[in-house]
Amino acid sequence: MKEQDGFLKYDRELPETRPPKVRVGDFKEIYEEFPEEKTKTQAARCMDCGVPFCHSGCPLGNIIPEFNEAVHEENWEEATSILYSTNNFPEFTGRICPAPCEASCVLGINKPPVAIEHIEKTIAEKAHELGFIKADPPEDRTDKKIAVIGSGPAGLAAADQLNKAGHWVTVFERDDKIGGLLSYGIPDFKMEKWVVERRINIMDEEGVRFKVNAEVGKNINPDELKEDFDAIVICTGSTVPRDLPVQGRDLDGIHFAMDFLTQQNKKVSGQDIENQITAQDKNVVVIGGGDTGSDCIGTSHRQSAATVLQLELMPKPPNSRTEQDPWPNWPMTLRTSSSHEEGGERQWSVLTKEFIGKNGKLTHIKLVDIEWVNQSGRQKMQEIEGTERLIPCELALLAIGFTQPENQLLKSLNIEQTQAGTVKANSYQTSNPSIFAAGDARRGQSLVVWAISEGREAAREVDKYLMGQTELPSKNDSY
Ligand code: FAD
Repeated sequence: MKEQDGFLKYDRELPETRPPKVRVGDFKEIYEEFPEEKTKTQAARCMDCGVPFCHSGCPLGNIIPEFNEAVHEENWEEATSILYSTNNFPEFTGRICPAPCEASCVLGINKPPVAIEHIEKTIAEKAHELGFIKADPPEDRTDKKIAVIGSGPAGLAAADQLNKAGHWVTVFERDDKIGGLLSYGIPDFKMEKWVVERRINIMDEEGVRFKVNAEVGKNINPDELKEDFDAIVICTGSTVPRDLPVQGRDLDGIHFAMDFLTQQNKKVSGQDIENQITAQDKNVVVIGGGDTGSDCIGTSHRQSAATVLQLELMPKPPNSRTEQDPWPNWPMTLRTSSSHEEGGERQWSVLTKEFIGKNGKLTHIKLVDIEWVNQSGRQKMQEIEGTERLIPCELALLAIGFTQPENQLLKSLNIEQTQAGTVKANSYQTSNPSIFAAGDARRGQSLVVWAISEGREAAREVDKYLMGQTELPSKNDSY
């Protein structure tokens, strides 16, 4: 880094967000513009460590100190080339990644870490603006055909890499839109959908074929797929939602988070939704304290909920690394999402005991506080006597995770699953040598950055399987 004492001179600074009261009036992204000069200064905070832990903290192995240096020198072409050498879609991760790289930043030990995620987004957007990212179809094509099932970040990364290697790639997606959770899960206020569409258009121009409304196992025959393609990559996500089978679960007004979020994303994209699940004027209880729960909160605010309460079974996380650190660990649960700044209440260590209703409709939820006690080395929950209470609630959203990918397709492709129900594919290759798997379908519910990483690594394995060798990069090359 030319300016070696930047970390001593400058504080961490991020773009301002639009005021909560204003932004809940629309579904647009929440960040204001940030002057380029300031991003350069933020890049100068990088200490260019001898051993850059940020680099290995990133599931993609992003070469962070080097792109920080290029940004500081305003060499956007160099920054683009470094960033895109390890990450196909930094325009996604620069917006929605929880940034494990920042949790690994050495400066973060005693100061706020380098604003890596913001720098990544800036490079990605400059790269598009300056025309460095444009369709670049492969010069030579092989005679190999590959089917990718599922068009989330894992499927898109696998398809992009395999297309770059010259293979003919077709992506099959059961939804009417490409993008998986990027399009129909993650709300627009976190990432507007033109960002996904811009990328799909480039991949389309580069020769990747996209088939929507194409559900393998339903209107696409898995056996024909096996015959017609030299390899298949399963990237179908982890889509089976965890349920809460307590008394009253069948009342009207209790929904899985994804049904609620998907409908709103479709509405924002201009589709008409019949009988939309809506939070308008309702007391909303979001059960589950993760990313999906936060997205339900932000969406409920934008739909003008009367009240919003979020419940979490786990204890409140500590405020810093120095406090005692219960599972799940700091810093991931410490994150307060932008949705929390917009209002609502949060309660931790709370168990939902029962849904209560009148005339078949949800009216209340029965809750009880719990404490976590150590029993023979295992944390067990125990109800706290006298804390049982009823909370008014007309809309309950279940955001308590996803258990596994859907079984039907995996059974019809006749491939082995792990005990947890995910696709068994240790090095991305399944029990059928021509079928591979990546993303949430293989590793279980995870993150966009992991899905991209898995898609890239799986593509390498497919290329090796088809060609006997591969020149596609691996994250291990960049460590
Ligand atoms: P998915 O994105 O789930 O894509 C799978 C695709 O496969 C879907 O489009 C599905 O329709 C398709 N499919 C399934 N079966 C078939 C079939 N038989 N035939 C054809 N197509 C099929 N991660 C972050 O990093 N940051 C966040 O802010 C964040 N927010 C999230 C918010 C929500 C509400 C949720 C649910 C998850 C969030 N995540 C976030 C997690 C992240 O979105 C996932 O880890 C990631 O999308 C997984 O990518 P994937 O490609 O494996 O699967």
